[in-house]
Amino acid sequence: MTGVRVDHTTTSGTFSLDGGTWDVENNVWVVGDHKACVVIDAPHQVEPIAELIGDRMLLAILCTHAHDDHVTVAGELSERFAAPVYLHADDEVLWRMTYPDAEFYPVEDGQRIPVGDDFELEALHTPGHSPGGVCYRAADLDAVFTGDTLFQGGPGATGRSYSDFDTIVASIRNTLLTLPPHTVVHTGHGPDTTIGAEAAAADTWARPE
Ligand SMILES: [Zn+2]
Repeated sequence: MTGVRVDHTTTSGTFSLDGGTWDVENNVWVVGDHKACVVIDAPHQVEPIAELIGDRMLLAILCTHAHDDHVTVAGELSERFAAPVYLHADDEVLWRMTYPDAEFYPVEDGQRIPVGDDFELEALHTPGHSPGGVCYRAADLDAVFTGDTLFQGGPGATGRSYSDFDTIVASIRNTLLTLPPHTVVHTGHGPDTTIGAEAAAADTWARPE
């Protein structure tokens, strides 16, 4: 692995589901070397994301899930950079709320996505926040990109449609807390954490009211 770096920005907009709309700020992660990169989530505005990509080749737009705040500009980025959108097929119902006609490439649990010559991300299917929630592990960076599955402070929200608390807790326990404790967690909203820090607090996770 040579020269792979993680670039980050945030964009702001709204999240809508179940008839409600909320203001949100989302993290954007760009992983790659000086030649090529992938984008993890495509929220709200193209330009800040395009700046992180720079003159590199965009290999793929990896959506952690299809809530509208995470896929807002996936289609626009895909056209502008001629890059495919990857999403777990179990989130198609959510994807169709933003993109009634556009297609995506289904990503599967365990799938490896090459980034550059000798670096790859591994897709980990972690349903619960949404049915097709996926985390992307970068083992060589000791990092995992968790979208809205795991935040600093515990599991992502499960109070709205297509979410389930028991499912997200099972996903986190079985798939994320088994990673090395020093693994850095890059989330979909808010600050980073580590697997070890979240594992230490797992006994306090409570079902939302
Ligand atoms: Zn979400």
